[in-house]
Amino acid sequence: MTGDLQADPSRDGTPTPGPFVSVRDLRVHFATDDGLVKSVDGLSFDLERGRTLGIVGESGSGKSVTSMAIMGLHKPSTVRLTGSITVGGQELVGADPDVVRRLRGKRMAMIFQDPLSAMHPFYTVGQQIIEAYRVHHRVPKKVARVRAIELLDRVGIPQPDKRVDDYPHQFSGGMRQRAMIAMALSCDPDLLIADEPTTALDVTVQAQILDLIRDLQREFHSAVILITHDLGVVAELADDILVMYAGRCVEYASAEAVFDEPRHPYTWGLMASMPRLDRDVTTRLLPIRGTPPSLINLPPGCPFHPRCRADDLVGDRCRTERPQFRVSAPGHRIACHLDDDQRAAALARDAGDLGDGREQEIG
Ligand code: SF4
Repeated sequence: MTGDLQADPSRDGTPTPGPFVSVRDLRVHFATDDGLVKSVDGLSFDLERGRTLGIVGESGSGKSVTSMAIMGLHKPSTVRLTGSITVGGQELVGADPDVVRRLRGKRMAMIFQDPLSAMHPFYTVGQQIIEAYRVHHRVPKKVARVRAIELLDRVGIPQPDKRVDDYPHQFSGGMRQRAMIAMALSCDPDLLIADEPTTALDVTVQAQILDLIRDLQREFHSAVILITHDLGVVAELADDILVMYAGRCVEYASAEAVFDEPRHPYTWGLMASMPRLDRDVTTRLLPIRGTPPSLINLPPGCPFHPRCRADDLVGDRCRTERPQFRVSAPGHRIACHLDDDQRAAALARDAGDLGDGREQEIG
């Protein structure tokens, strides 16, 4: 995290204060008949251009709500949004909706999990890319059509000059995802948010789409936020990883540090539940016990304590005192009461449990 002045070379060269994307104490709350749903509750992070931040967590952890808040896609009448989100120095929280709309597509764009529901079925793929392009560029349709064909070609659609006139249902799932990436790139966004971009795709196509996002990021020098429940996907792409639980960040470090030495019991649980090439094929995949908490009534103390297998090493604090988000090692922050000795003991215990093949859940 830095507060230095940094040039934003893609635009007018005017330096903008701080990182390209800066989120501070973001809270996204929804008033419901049952109470206030605190989907995101005090999230902070920075992201530079040319880097990818992977935000991981289970369903309901607040990942997608965060990305929707950055894109300004929540209906103002349904949401209480506080804190700060700046993109290229522009504050978005409380900004005029027209300002956010102008930024969307021009400086930031989003790739969704399900391109079929994000694309209009009545318009051809080409018409939709042309429209997206012309919203921000005053060019004749013919020029925009040439750009649409170029973009379809760039994202690997075969015969783009013909397929540009196809409807979304005429594309395969992988091609639709490529077309949506083309649409997102039509305005050279500085910030690209990919929300579960490969979840609906088979493994081969998934790898191709991740390669494509990586190549395009290098080419466009964009900042990328990758939202996923799948640690395998962030392992492919992310420079840094932010692990979310119950609307808060519980672990933040470089991808290397999180994979080599995860420090939060929730991250241990996520890792134990995913297949890994560096693990013996006979090792069981172990789901985290229990279910994510209600975001209306979080458990007291650490919100993860009802599911945590290491809380007995700390004692009552886990049930009474919410852990602060703190530096645990250089560049590595966690929200957990475990000290280094307790963490080592917990890991040794888990390694023993896994090694003797006992069938149990981990958390
Ligand atoms: Fe587990 Fe306690 Fe750490 Fe929470 S604070 S993750 S309950 S050890």
